[in-house]
Amino acid sequence: MILCAADFPFSWSLRRRHYWNSCRRRYFYYYYAARGGHDTDVADPVRRELHELKMRFTVPRYVNALLDSAMRSLFYRRFEAEDEEVPAESLADFAIRQMRREFAAMLKGEFRRDHRKPMLDELFTPGVSAGEVASELADRISSGARRLESGIWREWNSIPFVQRRRIDAPLEVKLNELSCYCMPLFALKTGRELWIVENFNRASGEDELVTLHKFHALNQHRCPPGAVRSFSIDRNTGELAELGKNLNLSAAIRSIRSDADEMQGAVRPDGTLHERDFPPACGRCGSCRFRTFCRRDQETPDIAASANFI
Ligand code: SF4
Repeated sequence: MILCAADFPFSWSLRRRHYWNSCRRRYFYYYYAARGGHDTDVADPVRRELHELKMRFTVPRYVNALLDSAMRSLFYRRFEAEDEEVPAESLADFAIRQMRREFAAMLKGEFRRDHRKPMLDELFTPGVSAGEVASELADRISSGARRLESGIWREWNSIPFVQRRRIDAPLEVKLNELSCYCMPLFALKTGRELWIVENFNRASGEDELVTLHKFHALNQHRCPPGAVRSFSIDRNTGELAELGKNLNLSAAIRSIRSDADEMQGAVRPDGTLHERDFPPACGRCGSCRFRTFCRRDQETPDIAASANFI
């Protein structure tokens, strides 16, 4: 498969780094080959198939994403949070309501037409019924929400609205000309400090994430780096942990830039991206969403070779 790099504007993120470092072939599928596959009018079958695989979550990953999105929505929901006459909806109830809506869309296969709609791997497992999957989802959402509510979430959800600060998710942060992305949950102003909460669950990259938060605060709120604090919520205990306590800002910026240079170095001098320049790392396939396609692609490379988009 050969693609034109100019069709894919580059941006850096921790997820992108993770894909780049773990399996180059998966990186190629996710960031290039699957793009545009939701457009059933123009996408060829290979791109559509890769897009469908890209949109498939496992149940635990889906539940984590759903709870993040539910916390964010509740945090910024003004009137119910401020009006004591209206009981605040619990995190579990809110997330289960959202899950039911999305689950109905999954059963209709809407992820094939709309790139924002998720799909569950488990719904493709032979012998597993939709009812079983829905009930597992509800159980996991309830227990995940209970853990979060037993910690700091309850306190944060009662913070006066005037202290809450809108923050995009995904959030684009510019390091000069380089576009970078992170995925904050919410932000709040406390005294002269701006606190930004984002779920960080990787082995490395904490300083890079905190650096993006500081640049965002400086660019958008004129908030000096020393007044910005970053936190992550522990999904098991609901407690907050502060990130980047030993931040080395210039090392983090260098690390982001060198990553971005290396990834962009995969573009050939003529501006093309070739699938064969992104070798598969076959020892890391356990939970890879592309494994069905990838195995076929390696056994019969003609499938993908027939799909050149330049
Ligand atoms: S199945 Fe394995 S080799 Fe193929 S893209 Fe996934 S992780 Fe890489």
